[in-house]
Amino acid sequence: MLWNPWRGCHRCSEGCKYCYIHKGDQRKKIDTDIIVKTKDFAKPIKLNDKNEYLMRTNKIVYVCFSSDFLINEADQWRLECYQMMRERSDLNFLFLTKRIERFLTILPNDWGQGYDNITVGVSVENQQNADHRLKILNSLPIKHKNIICQPMIGPIDLSDHLDDVELVVVGGESDRNGRILNYDWVLNLKNQCLNKHVSFSFRQCASNFIKDDNYYHIPTRQLISQAKKAGIDHYF
Ligand code: SF4
Repeated sequence: MLWNPWRGCHRCSEGCKYCYIHKGDQRKKIDTDIIVKTKDFAKPIKLNDKNEYLMRTNKIVYVCFSSDFLINEADQWRLECYQMMRERSDLNFLFLTKRIERFLTILPNDWGQGYDNITVGVSVENQQNADHRLKILNSLPIKHKNIICQPMIGPIDLSDHLDDVELVVVGGESDRNGRILNYDWVLNLKNQCLNKHVSFSFRQCASNFIKDDNYYHIPTRQLISQAKKAGIDHYF
């Protein structure tokens, strides 16, 4: 289930180059750099005629997939979102961010060591950003931590950053001119995860992909199925 309480984002990192939100908005002539609340802002707590929540229980809710949950402009709205997530303790919420350094800016008073039903995924595309952002992630009170290496645009060594991490997700870049993903980097990451007993998932191939020194251009519609075909996911 998706919950996009606001939309819009600013490019802030190398991994944003072919951001799917910016690309989609460009086609629709929407200015992605304007951050606006959506009509779905209160979606998790909306009720039907029988006074039941419209969002069914026991689901994973993907939060803010048309923005970055920690973007500055949303500081004014974030606390209310945390309150809704607390009210819906029967749902599991997941948000991703490239702005983990902003995490402590707005937090509810009762956050403590984190809410049981919130997972935070930090996106890192290369070694430099992994070292910077994951050092911060490591220090934060969050109950469930994921690392998202997507788009992976170079080899990444996560060995120093996997303590307390539940899952690493890897994916390539989706764009005709996207940067190359070498399958060796993916396998290497998987080994790092297995060594530390961290679950691993290869979610998406890259449009421009190298395997065993052979180059492949993969159509967008096949990026997910090709990754699945590799069959290298491992869950503990
Ligand atoms: S942070 Fe994410 S949503 Fe924002 S521009 Fe970058 S890739 Fe797009």
